[in-house]
Formats: sequence, structure tokens, C-alpha cells
Amino acid sequence: MPDSQTDYVIVGGGSAGCVLARRLSDDPDVNVVLLEAGPDALEPLIEIPFAFSQLLKSDLDWDNESEREPHLGDRRIHLARGKVLGGSSAINALIYLRGNRLDFDSWERAGFCGWSFEDVLPYFKRAEDNEQLGDPYHGKGGPLAVSDNPTPHELVDAVIAAALQAGIAANEDPNGAVQDGVGRWQSTQRSGRRSSTADGYLGPVRARPNLRVITDAEATKVNFESDRAVGVEYLRHGELKNASCQREVILSAGSFNSPKLLLLSGIGPAADLARLGIACRENLPVGRNLQDHLIVMLNWLTDGESMKDAWTPENMARWEDDGTGPLASNVGEGGAFIRTRSALPAPDIQLTFCPVMLGDDFLVPPMDHGLSLCPVLLKPASRGVVSLRTSLPISKVRVQNSYLAEDDDRRTMIDGVRACLNIAEQAALREVTTGPSLVPASDSDADCLDFVERNAQTLYHPVGTCAMGAVVDRECRVLGHECLRVVDASVMPEIPRANTNAATIMVAERAADFIKAA
Ligand SMILES: Cc1cc2nc3c(=O)[nH]c(=O)nc-3n(C[C@H](O)[C@H](O)[C@H](O)COP(=O)(O)OP(=O)(O)OC[C@H]3O[C@@H](n4cnc5c(N)ncnc54)[C@H](O)[C@@H]3O)c2cc1C
Repeated sequence: MPDSQTDYVIVGGGSAGCVLARRLSDDPDVNVVLLEAGPDALEPLIEIPFAFSQLLKSDLDWDNESEREPHLGDRRIHLARGKVLGGSSAINALIYLRGNRLDFDSWERAGFCGWSFEDVLPYFKRAEDNEQLGDPYHGKGGPLAVSDNPTPHELVDAVIAAALQAGIAANEDPNGAVQDGVGRWQSTQRSGRRSSTADGYLGPVRARPNLRVITDAEATKVNFESDRAVGVEYLRHGELKNASCQREVILSAGSFNSPKLLLLSGIGPAADLARLGIACRENLPVGRNLQDHLIVMLNWLTDGESMKDAWTPENMARWEDDGTGPLASNVGEGGAFIRTRSALPAPDIQLTFCPVMLGDDFLVPPMDHGLSLCPVLLKPASRGVVSLRTSLPISKVRVQNSYLAEDDDRRTMIDGVRACLNIAEQAALREVTTGPSLVPASDSDADCLDFVERNAQTLYHPVGTCAMGAVVDRECRVLGHECLRVVDASVMPEIPRANTNAATIMVAERAADFIKAA
């Protein structure tokens, strides 16, 4: 496909980029080029839900690190991002949760017409091929496989029973009418095998003559003619190349690298660009408004089997045979959405229940059998920044999350930790646990906060760095420029109250319709 015939260049074949590549190339008269910095998704571990932690810090991870975080004991936090076709949807923990109705209604209220819950529900459903659930909240026949866990672990049942004893209501579908409550969650897999956007969206259409996927191609900047984006420059196997297009350049490089590309192209805060010697095309707050979900793991020992020893030849044979067994588990099998104060309009804490002890960024295998209860701060008030270290594309971005900078965030996280301690006190959990392994010294505010500061990490959900209203308009067009959009998690004005893969895919489905209608 010669450049002169290319309509769209999409940068980044992740959760959003693969959706766009599929939807835009549905029209055989439209020619699409998808550039992905990482390789094709050939690594066999990608398919195994339980193996996601093996992919962290591998060649398929951009392996960013935050600046020292002042409210987390000055620690640097590992910020994993998928560097492979499928992007972070190929290395994530597969949890399928969408967020609260209020999240999307508040985007609409902020002036982004067309993003209310009622507006976006059809796009969540269009994406989905839900094995168990259907109307009115779920879709069937879409590219993304969503299923119940094929081999639920009994330790998670015990935690759910304890949460019920603690007074949390049961909820069989937090993606349905009500988000509050406790239960098992679905995941993006089918028959125990991961459904990333690379295989769900791109796989079936890879052979289309109007779609060209170029892997190992890292975009370095956007090319312009006057204010019109006309293509991108990219590096492939040490050679600098150009991909031009007639209609639009679409950046889907994720919440760290989409702002990076805009900044390298002269779109960003004028003072920051001047400091790096980059000529400013447009003074926009690119990279500001970074929001992420903070999580901390509390661990208890069990006398029964956890998933500590899941990597056995027998379990591998079982998974290969019929996609069941421990290796089909995505670990975060269930949990709860709770409100730490009754006056809140929606949950502010997500509790994730795991049938194995967790810690150290999922990187160190547990020494003992146990389980983990993990509070997640759903609506952080703190805001971070993504910026450039140098004007060279090879430099990694600088990420300062400023986790827990706001009092409210610290207060909510303390209450989330206390909710876990309370669940652990219930009879159903006492029956299966033999004592604490990693928990705060007491349930006092000071001890809970100290525990969070020493142990919290990211749940890998950065959003908001090219936010609607600040950097792009409601149709994801970069302000002040023609033929340039950003479509990925970075355009979310506010973080949804849930893991962010489903919402990112929804954003791309929604944006595909805007682009087609342009
Ligand atoms: C370890 C981990 C666990 C997670 N667990 C869950 C979970 O259980 N459930 C959930 O809902 N969400 C989860 N998430 C979050 C979710 O996966 C992300 O929110 C979502 O994938 C973001 O999609 P995106 O399109 O914005 O970015 P990505 O999917 O990261 O895609 C960006 C793509 O752009 C490519 N790229 C970047 N720069 C360039 C460049 N210069 N040139 C060319 N290509 C480039 C990248 O290689 C990547 O493929 C997790 C994320 C991680 C990392």
C-alpha cells in the first residue's frame, strides 16, 4: 500500500489502536497503516491468564519507573506498559470491569456530549462477546471475549463469604445495574485463553488488503504541513522512515507515550518545550492531569492450598488440554466495590481478592500458601504529570504520579485497608487463614497509612494525560490542529471507578464512529 493511498496512520497497536485498525479498515475503500513499537504477540505466555506477572519487566514491557513518590516513602514505582501487539491488553490481569455509570455521566456533565453512560453502553456492548451474560448490559458476538473464570478458586469463595458476613451486599454483576457489592468477576478470556485486542480485534482481519500492520516500528514524531498532520516519522531496525496519510494521524500510544509524541512534535506546555529546545506549535497542558489507581496488598497465611505452586507440569498439561485449572485463573478472581462514607454517590474503594499472597509488584513468588486482599483507591484527587526528560525520542518519559498527595486520598486508602482487616476478622475467613503475613501493625490511622506508604504500588491504570477538554475535543481531535487525534486511555478526562481496559476499548469504539462520520 503506497503512502499516497494511505488514509489513516495509527500509532500504537494496543487496547485502543487495534480497535481502530479493525473498525476503520471495515470499509474496504479505506487504507489503514498501524505502527506498533513492539513485536507481534507470539510469546506463548501471553495466552495463559495466570502468567501475566511473568510478562512484567520482560521485553514486552516498556518498563517505566516513576520519579520518587514523596507520599510513598520516596520509593520509585514500576509502571508496566505492554510493548507488543495488543499493548497492555496483552500483559494485563484480564479483569473485566467497566466503571460506574456516574463516571461517564460526569464526562458528559463536564461538557463532553456523547459520553454519558447511556451513550457509551452500546459501545461497551459492541466490543463484547460475553459467554454468560446478555441484555440489557452485555453484548454477544463482539471481538472481545468475556467469560467467567473456568476454574474458580475456593479461597476466593471464602473471602466473598467473609465480605458478606462483614455486611457487604452480594452483587453478581458489577458491570450491570449496580456497581456496589461483592462477588466474582469476569475476565477477558475464552476457554482459559487470553483475549487481547491483538487477537480479538486484529487477528480475524489481519489479512485485509487495506490494512498494513508494521511491528517493531517506533514513532518518533508527527509530521505537519502547516497545522495539518500528514504522517509520522518512525524508527524501524535502526532506520528512520516516514508514513504519510491523506486523512488523519491517530495517536494510540497510551497514557505515557501519546503525550510523549505530542511533546516531541511541539505540542505541549510552552515553557517545558522551550527548556528542551523544542519549538512550540501549540501551548497545551499535554501530560498534566495524570490519574492512576493505587493498590496495596494485605496478605494472610492459609493452611489450605493457594496458587503458590500453580506452575506444575500437570497444571500446564491441563491448561493445554482444555483451558482449565489454576493456570486459567487471572488471580484477581473477584472482589467488592464499597463506599467508605455513606454520603458518597458511588464506591470509592475496590477490593480485589486473590487466592495467593502478592507483593513486590507481582515479581517475587510467594514463600507460603496464603491469600491477598487488596484495596484500590478508585477516585484519586491527586494528579500527576508525564513530561520529557530530553528532546530525544529514545529517552523514557518522566512520570511523577504524586500518589496520595491529597489528604482525601490518604483518608480513603486508610479506610480501604481497614475494610480488609474487618473482612479478615469474619468467621468465614478465620476458618481458612492461620494468621497475618503482611498487614499493618494495627488498625490505627497511623499504622494503616504507614503500611500503605511502604507497600502500595500502581494497578497500572494511568489515564488523563491528553484529556478531553484540555488537549483534545470531545471527538478526540487535538486542539488547534487538523487531521490529528489521540485515541486511548490518555483522553479520559477522569479515571473510571474500575480497571481501565474495557473503558479504553469503549473509548476507541466510540472514537471510531466519530472518525468515520468526519
Ligand atoms: C500489568 C498490567 C495489568 C493490568 N490489569 C488490568 C486488568 O486486569 N483489567 C483492566 O481492565 N485493565 C488492566 N490494565 C490496564 C489496561 O490494560 C490499560 O488501561 C489499557 O490497556 C490501556 O490501553 P491503551 O490503548 O491506552 O494503551 P496500551 O494498551 O498500552 O497501548 C499502547 C500501544 O502503543 C505502543 N506504542 C507506544 N509508543 C509507541 C510509539 N512511539 N510508536 C509505536 N507504538 C508505540 C505500545 O507498544 C502499545 O502497544 C493493566 C495494565 C497493565 C500494564
